[in-house]
Amino acid sequence: MPPSTPSALSLDAIMGEVAQQIYPLSTLYVVATPIGNAGDITLRALNVLSLADAVACEDTRNTAQLLQRYGLAKELIAAHEHNEREAAERLIARLQGGQRIALVSDAGTPAVSDPGARIVDAVRTAGLRVMPLPGASAAVSALSASGLVDDCFFFAGFLPAKAKQREARLLELKPLGATLVFYEAPHRIAETAEALAATLGPGRQVVFARELSKLFEEIHRCTLAEAPAWLAADAHRHKGEFVVLVQGAAAQGDDGDAETDRVLQILLQECPVKQAASLAAQITGRKKNALYERALQLKDG
Ligand code: SAM
Repeated sequence: MPPSTPSALSLDAIMGEVAQQIYPLSTLYVVATPIGNAGDITLRALNVLSLADAVACEDTRNTAQLLQRYGLAKELIAAHEHNEREAAERLIARLQGGQRIALVSDAGTPAVSDPGARIVDAVRTAGLRVMPLPGASAAVSALSASGLVDDCFFFAGFLPAKAKQREARLLELKPLGATLVFYEAPHRIAETAEALAATLGPGRQVVFARELSKLFEEIHRCTLAEAPAWLAADAHRHKGEFVVLVQGAAAQGDDGDAETDRVLQILLQECPVKQAASLAAQITGRKKNALYERALQLKDG
């Protein structure tokens, strides 16, 4: 017998199925919320938010507005990076009393570059159940649309704001053969792009995923050498929210070095060393002196 085709369900019927699932008492629900588009809330998230006895959140004003959009009003408990320990104690007492508590952040998945991890740790340590409600994540959304094909990725979150610490962190990340995923604030995006090119080399691919799921969403891929000019070409590119993805170091050494050698070799077939180095510097964004030295090596070798 051929398998029967499931009949389509109405949204109400799907919501009914979602509501029939078991949402145990004495459980902390870690609920992902949209990163820009209100339509990206899940049906399960709406169901849990409506069932919850209280919602623990990063910013009570933001969360009140968010809940209002879905026609919900709940008791809100502030749980931000400055009070996570005390908030955890209050939440544990309520969970032990049999309540369901939802934990949300301002946007996306709580505890991922957001408050929540300490609360989750304390709740689990107290022997209570924690249930994730999957949903929007800026990092995963950006990766899914990047076209970068490294087999794995490394979520690096926000880079340090100070130049020295940022460079040290980038040097640690440089050898990884995984796509590097960064979150970045708009006022630092240009500086970060420069630092990425200077430390990781100009040849790697970079993807800027800006304003994901919002009206002015933009996903741009180029080399690190080209990134500063792309950012400078439009003032809007210094605004909004960004995920920055950088191609990992290739298995056979740094991609940038291989690509630079390829460019130099082609140029050396046509021009003298000095001119080849000068043209290669314009193409790759690398320093002319270093390219001159490398061109001499390639010519002799
Ligand atoms: N927990 C969130 C998640 O799951 O993605 C991330 C919170 S983190 C404090 C905020 C950072 O996430 C922003 O600075 C930006 O780097 C990134 N981000 C959040 N929303 C974004 C969006 N719509 N488009 C691009 N990046 C976004």
